[in-house]
Amino acid sequence: MRIAVVIKDRCRHDRCNYQCIQYCPKVRTGDETIVKTEDGIRISEELCAGCGICVLKCPFDAIKIINLAEELEKEMIHRFGENSFRLYRLPIPQKDKVVGILGANGIGKTTAIRILSGEIIPNLGAYEKEPSWENILEHYSGTAFVEYFEKIADGEFETSVKPQYVDKIPAHYTGKVKELLARVGDDYDRWVEKLDIENTLDALITTLSGGELQRVAIAAASTKEADIYFYDEPSSYLDIKQRLNVARVIKEKSKESQVMVIEHDIAILDFLADSTHIIYGSTGAYGVVTQTRGVRRAINTFLYGFLTEENIRFRDAEITFESHAPRKDWHTEPLIEYGRLVKEWDNFKLETEPGLVPTGEVVGIVGPNATGKTTFVKMLAGVIDPTEGDIKSSMSVSYKPQYIKPDFSGRVMDLYHSYISEMFDTNLFQSEVAKPLDLKPLFERELSNLSGGELQRVVIALCLGREADLYLIDEPSAYLDSNMRMETARAIRRFMEKTNKAGLIVDHDVYFIDYVSDMIMNFSGSPGVYGKGEGPFEMKEGMNKFLREVDITFRRDPDTNRPRVNKTDSRLDRKQKHEGKYYYTN
Ligand code: ADP
Ligand code: SF4
Repeated sequence: MRIAVVIKDRCRHDRCNYQCIQYCPKVRTGDETIVKTEDGIRISEELCAGCGICVLKCPFDAIKIINLAEELEKEMIHRFGENSFRLYRLPIPQKDKVVGILGANGIGKTTAIRILSGEIIPNLGAYEKEPSWENILEHYSGTAFVEYFEKIADGEFETSVKPQYVDKIPAHYTGKVKELLARVGDDYDRWVEKLDIENTLDALITTLSGGELQRVAIAAASTKEADIYFYDEPSSYLDIKQRLNVARVIKEKSKESQVMVIEHDIAILDFLADSTHIIYGSTGAYGVVTQTRGVRRAINTFLYGFLTEENIRFRDAEITFESHAPRKDWHTEPLIEYGRLVKEWDNFKLETEPGLVPTGEVVGIVGPNATGKTTFVKMLAGVIDPTEGDIKSSMSVSYKPQYIKPDFSGRVMDLYHSYISEMFDTNLFQSEVAKPLDLKPLFERELSNLSGGELQRVVIALCLGREADLYLIDEPSAYLDSNMRMETARAIRRFMEKTNKAGLIVDHDVYFIDYVSDMIMNFSGSPGVYGKGEGPFEMKEGMNKFLREVDITFRRDPDTNRPRVNKTDSRLDRKQKHEGKYYYTN
């Protein structure tokens, strides 16, 4: 079975010469295999010979021609249109269990949730016809889904969704937190307390930090009376302690209702989900929901990149982890050295120990929110002056902030030409940044139309493309899918090695930090009041200090060596704490 997909937001037929049509061998012999339409092109899957020439000729990477197993055809759940995305199979909600969904961005996770919440009536591929629940009930008769869809069809089914992009909430709602919560239900106190957001209740939604917004959104979604709860990326903007707390809250919810979660922080998904569906496919073209696996097995399968039952490889290489700290001679030339620094604001004091950042290295910066990580880096960058202490060397810093806005009107390509035109054309940028971050399909897109993950990739690349000594990248993992997180971590690291610059990376995703860092700098204190920065330390010492502070230990998965959060007070947790082995177990 062959599918031909034209990705609408990439197809810029106003800017090309229809090379797809010019070069298609079937068109040349007189067939109408590709034809012009009002909004681009249409490719006939029946006439297409599958040679792939149009895919190569399209300057905007807008065409995908893919061969799929014939058997999948009858499992198609939904197809948006002729050369559009299609979804095969659905994830299955389970009683008393948190069901996780793990897959790349643009592979159909949201579409599956929209179907399961009754927002989309699936058309089973017959996109020309009006879809109806009767057809769906007939299709699913005798399966686990029939009862589920019967309720949706009868309008008896309530769903509650925690949306992915919490930073968009203030654009729709500007009132106080407690007014927002009261609108969804009476029983909000319970969730407010568990999520530790009592002190935000009287605040206006527009004044909240990302982490507070996330927890308010989770509280609102949990308060609503519903039959099924969907949490789409509940970890963004939260520090690791808050992530684990949110995971516990969601687990508790699953004891009373059905719960599904999309989560790209693998350590958190692992801790949170009971079972997980991997969705594989091709971004924007198709997604196949695989059978549910226990969460440990699902994540290991995801890291291997190979589905045994389906005999499908969905990534070229395995993602691997070391159970011991990298033993690197990291005391190379210092790029920057600084003494003890103090910064005092009206209500906040930060103290950092003397330290140095060697050239070519990446320092992962970890610690709770609001303990002064960004303040520290701004002092290094010379953006703000310390109250006490000096920075010995002056240097230039390229900075990617935590919250990013598309405040540039034009295409991604225009942005790069305006700000990093020289660097953009170098081999270094193209091979070490643009390629791993998969930027090519984004070049012709308007910045304002990008999704959160796409925008993140664009601005990380913009940050790396600027001439600087030190690159400060604040929460690069937000909105990236798990695979892109690993690619990005690797790209940042290689970029620093090759350019002999240094990176300071603030992130809360432990897998990301493990992958990106040569050293760890650790912040602690009392959020919003007092912060203390120590390090950089070599990995083992840094991770131990950090995790001791937040009181979390990780064990190693015997098959993949990946870190797994230990249950608080479990036998292993107590043993590792006693031995001081919080992260690396040998
Ligand atoms: P994910 O949640 O995994 O990121 P989505 O379910 O949002 O993926 O999207 C999968 C694909 O379906 C995307 O390529 C998206 O552009 C496409 N898509 C979503 N909604 C529509 C629609 N209404 N019409 C056409 N294509 C759509
Ligand atoms: Fe034509 Fe080949 Fe593209 Fe099919 S894959 S539409 S035959 S160019």
